[in-house]
Amino acid sequence: MTAARLPVGAPLPDWMRHGSCVSGPERLLPWIAEPGQASAAEVAAMARVCAGCPVRLACAVDARGESAGFWAGRERGRLEALDLLDELAASDTSDVAAPAGLVVV
Ligand code: SF4
Repeated sequence: MTAARLPVGAPLPDWMRHGSCVSGPERLLPWIAEPGQASAAEVAAMARVCAGCPVRLACAVDARGESAGFWAGRERGRLEALDLLDELAASDTSDVAAPAGLVVV
């Protein structure tokens, strides 16, 4: 995810501070790997972390325009962004916090 992409010492966006991948042993997974570089076991582990993440929707929104890394439950490709948002919109996100300023319809 994004936290590892930020320059060392850069402040995290507010939603990112609550990501399940920014602390604990989970932060050591290959969140910024290029597509295809993470092993199947690593991808599965990251997907499990994302599944319980309270800011998954905000992460998916912020991932738009990213072409690599693991965001909101899947490896990223630039063309996947809209599909991912559609998928999240169709899922039950009632327990997921939307980022400030985002209107979810
Ligand atoms: S959805 Fe996944 S990648 Fe995004 S902040 Fe949460 S744990 Fe990290």
